[in-house]
Amino acid sequence: NESGRPLAYFHQISNLEAIEGADIIEIATVLGWRVIVKKGLYKIGDSVVYVEIDSLLPSWPYFVSDGLDKKSFKIKTIKLRGQISQGYCIPVKELLNHPNKKVSPIYHSERFDEIIELKDETTGKTIPIELGYNLTEFIGIKKIEEYVPTIRTGPNKTKIYTFPSFIKKTDQGRIQNLLHYFDTHKDKEFEVTEKLEGSSITVYRYKDKNGICSRNYQLEKVEPSTDIHQAIIEDLDLINKLIESNLNIAIQGEIIGPKIQGNIYALKKHHYKIFDIYLIEKDRYATYDERIELLQKLGLTMKDHGAPILFKSFSLNGKTLKDILELADGFSQLKESKPKVLREGLVFKSLSTHNDVSPYVVSFKAISNQYLLKKK
Ligand code: ATP
Ligand code: MN
Ligand code: MN
Repeated sequence: NESGRPLAYFHQISNLEAIEGADIIEIATVLGWRVIVKKGLYKIGDSVVYVEIDSLLPSWPYFVSDGLDKKSFKIKTIKLRGQISQGYCIPVKELLNHPNKKVSPIYHSERFDEIIELKDETTGKTIPIELGYNLTEFIGIKKIEEYVPTIRTGPNKTKIYTFPSFIKKTDQGRIQNLLHYFDTHKDKEFEVTEKLEGSSITVYRYKDKNGICSRNYQLEKVEPSTDIHQAIIEDLDLINKLIESNLNIAIQGEIIGPKIQGNIYALKKHHYKIFDIYLIEKDRYATYDERIELLQKLGLTMKDHGAPILFKSFSLNGKTLKDILELADGFSQLKESKPKVLREGLVFKSLSTHNDVSPYVVSFKAISNQYLLKKK
């Protein structure tokens, strides 16, 4: 789980709803996720282990007995009885039956049946049953990785290095996990761009250093280029432009095209679409205005070189999660794309920074459920 995104953690069931015509299952709400559970298994307010989509669960007898597909244990977006279900819930007490670890419970002193802590006897570590406590490693969950981090065109395997520590890796939180944004950031305006289904490339220049990175690594520069990432950045002459303009920044964008993530846009050649600029000296992302100004200095525009912009100024005020998820559905606005390709989703970025002490741009993603259901 390279990006380190927590895939399983304790959280509370905040709501339970019946499904019309179903008598053994119901819908539980955990954070902003709706997930199908066995009817009567949980009460509102119960702590559970919530497992996010994209998880690959290890093999546990419980998962089999609960009806998960025996061979894969992959947690994906599914539709059952007309209901979208995203994620998977495990009762806390099932952790006591971990197939490879000895785990003992520590109960509440007054309420006998309430476990307040678990003890991992193999490591001696205690596991507090606290909202958000990350259980990904403990359970042994891996992420379903859908892309190869480096795509090579040539026969030579190039070397890779660790990602520069002074740049943030590209990543976006899911709105379903960030429901407080509807309140905290209701007064902000957001830029809404299309989330492109490709692979991430960062190109940077910082003092005497420069380089090209995939999602998680800096790539070795080879002559002549045998790597798609390097080739596309060289086509745009980006490193030289950064050096000439004396900027200490990292440009982040998505490479899309043949052989990348199934090339859903049916592109004939590769394109690099910029979605962010990291200001290395300020240690934060550029705002929309700052990004436009920097791109201009480099002779680039959002229109030609950027991810499609759907709204220049969007507010969360008065909106619900449902509104945002509905907005995420729709066709790709990429001008090079063949028409009527469902988009992966949207990424929202605040136009102004948040927090005066250490300012940052607030951002999140909304993946289209329509797209997730079609994907499989
Ligand atoms: P997760 O499993 O959480 O979905 P992931 O590794 O698959 O993580 P993504 O879901 O694809 O990552 O979400 C973040 C990525 O979205 C970024 O790393 C970036 O490469 C990509 N991306 C595509 N379009 C945009 C955009 N318009 N703005 C920001 N990021 C974008
Ligand atoms: Mn993803
Ligand atoms: Mn992606």
